[in-house]
Amino acid sequence: MRLRHRDGPLTRELVREPGGFGLGQVPSRLKPDAVASLVCGFCSTGCSLDVHLRDDGPVNITPSVRYPVNQGQACPKGWEALAPLAASDRAVTPLWRDRRGRLQPISWPVASVHFVERFRALLDRHGPDSVAFLSTGQIPTEEMALLGALAKFGMGMVHGDGNTRQCMATTAAAYKESFGFDAPPYTYADFEESDVIVLVGSNLCIAHPIMWERIRANRHDPEVVVVDPRKTETAMAATRHLAIHPKSDLTLMYGLAHLLVRNGWVDREFVDTYTSGFEELAAHVEAFPPERVSAVSGISTADLEDLAALIHGGERVSFWWTMGVNQSHEGTRTAQAIINLALLTGNIGRPGTGANSITGQCNAMGSRLFSNTTNLFGGRDFSSGADRNDVAAILGIDAGRIPTRPSWSYDRIIDAAADGTLRGLWVVATNSAHSWIDQSRLREAMSRLDFLVVQDMYATTETAELADLVLPAAGWGEKDGTFINSERRIGRIRPVARPPGAAIPDFDIFRLLADAWGCGDLFRAWTTPEEVFRLLARLSQGRPCDIGGITGYDMIDRAGGIQWPLPAGTDAVPAEERRLFSDGRFFHRDGRARLVVGDPTPVAEPVSAEFPLVLLTGRASSSQWHTQTRTAKSAVLRAMSPADPYVEMAPADASARSLVTGDTTLVRSRRGSMRARVVVTPTIREGQVFVPMHYGATNRLTHASFDPHSRQPAYKSAAVQVGPATRRER
Ligand code: SF4
Repeated sequence: MRLRHRDGPLTRELVREPGGFGLGQVPSRLKPDAVASLVCGFCSTGCSLDVHLRDDGPVNITPSVRYPVNQGQACPKGWEALAPLAASDRAVTPLWRDRRGRLQPISWPVASVHFVERFRALLDRHGPDSVAFLSTGQIPTEEMALLGALAKFGMGMVHGDGNTRQCMATTAAAYKESFGFDAPPYTYADFEESDVIVLVGSNLCIAHPIMWERIRANRHDPEVVVVDPRKTETAMAATRHLAIHPKSDLTLMYGLAHLLVRNGWVDREFVDTYTSGFEELAAHVEAFPPERVSAVSGISTADLEDLAALIHGGERVSFWWTMGVNQSHEGTRTAQAIINLALLTGNIGRPGTGANSITGQCNAMGSRLFSNTTNLFGGRDFSSGADRNDVAAILGIDAGRIPTRPSWSYDRIIDAAADGTLRGLWVVATNSAHSWIDQSRLREAMSRLDFLVVQDMYATTETAELADLVLPAAGWGEKDGTFINSERRIGRIRPVARPPGAAIPDFDIFRLLADAWGCGDLFRAWTTPEEVFRLLARLSQGRPCDIGGITGYDMIDRAGGIQWPLPAGTDAVPAEERRLFSDGRFFHRDGRARLVVGDPTPVAEPVSAEFPLVLLTGRASSSQWHTQTRTAKSAVLRAMSPADPYVEMAPADASARSLVTGDTTLVRSRRGSMRARVVVTPTIREGQVFVPMHYGATNRLTHASFDPHSRQPAYKSAAVQVGPATRRER
């Protein structure tokens, strides 16, 4: 029996207004010659951008001068943030794949009936493990919260993860175990206060350029140490570069801890008062003397000892890391080994210090706290009855609606699609068919699905092209909400343009689907993004991420963004820059941080005679963003980076293959191949190659191995060969 569309208030409005306009969030007429400030929707730095409006639309952007994050600066993506809105290939109507395999326009009511009918049938026939959703770190917190609540409390799904699994899962797992909560402790002022800055696996200059500008504003003449296999732009600008062998960072960190312990450079007062696990750590790192560490990492014993002495001698030492650490087969332990160094030396809770992970996407932190995917709201646990009751009471729902088990992680969701357990998948604002590791396996898994829904700004993403149903969504600049940046700062976005055609904010799509599913009543209080923000503030109360003191969007606007926590009862708008743990109390019950260690493990795919080169992947330019879904829409950004894939090679490796810069070659792994232009450069070591992540073919090469604690994919370690294409491959 076909379901009839259930008519809720929002759908009635959509039916009445076929263009989809007239919704509460989108102003019917924009104020002439006004300026609206929005936090940028690309990276986690969270710069504020002033959008200049004239007549009925945005005309230009300038970086906000008085915002504490970016202080009048923006990278090229920020300057070009309006271009993706005006792209000619925006999704402007729901699309349904017909019997001949072609996507055909349909109306929202029909789309919602298809959605409900297909997902309901799968749930009824195959149970809750047969369906899942994949969320994102690119939509506002309020939208991801509504998605997580709707799917899990309203529709009966158990499984839903986010693309933050690809960038921050490692760090979230590390902080949770070490600090007792997923809590980056720093504020950006720490970049300016340190006298020693250690950057591990972070090419800040191009990946987070405004954070690099904060280092440049440091008046303490800091030592800047970069630990990275490549001589990246950041390594070139640093005072020291340790070009470690790929995936030797865990051993290196233990070697540094060994030297701190051996030389009596541990801050015993801090360690004894505020941490636990020192004896185990000291025993563990005894096995990492400089000679062993040097042999594994390629760093001389003298350089190791110099770095340990530098960390010991610094008054305000800060440690920062990002994807070089996170996207590793042992990323959680590596992040914790960095955290250990900060704890051992008492470098936490004071200006210029900290064990500081840098987030990737604009709202990765919102996803970690409030997406209701693998964690229950506010960092709670689905398997805890007390946590479920807590959430149920705050939301006024039956606790029985809350799943009693945590979701599968992203990789397990893909595995379930591959083995036929999972039959329906709802992908929201992410491009799995480009970004997920080992593409041929991902695509094979997706091809086995009975029903794939993609909700996105564009119907042209690699994933949307595989979809049975495409739901057109408004983008950044077309809707309301908040993002949480790397330093825990909650910032506003707001509509400055109308979405094209029948595209509507994700928030409204979720409400529409709630009505169509018949569970709209559950979300009676979830009427606007700001009302959802207030609900989240209530859900956060008493948690480490307590934002109960933020009364609404006006307060965020007035304060220039607000860092969590801000419990209710806080008198004044807080200082612009706040850090955690200044009182030495961590989030474990006993208030102590844990010094956590584990044994290094070999990479899943070592090089071989057939595949003798280590493939490193990563960001290549400040003008490209992830899968280029949005940045490729800007002619300015396109002109700033190569359109075609390229592979960076060491001179010796290129010469051994008779390759020179500009040659077209084939990069092969056991899983697939890609054509790429050769760039011969001394910035990469012999035996390694680098391919930017931004090209669709890159993940044909990567190897699907995962950090066991976080299930984060290890994107930066696969064995490849580079050589001319055979006649068949040309
Ligand atoms: Fe700032 Fe990142 Fe946006 Fe660039 S992409 S403007 S660094 S928030």
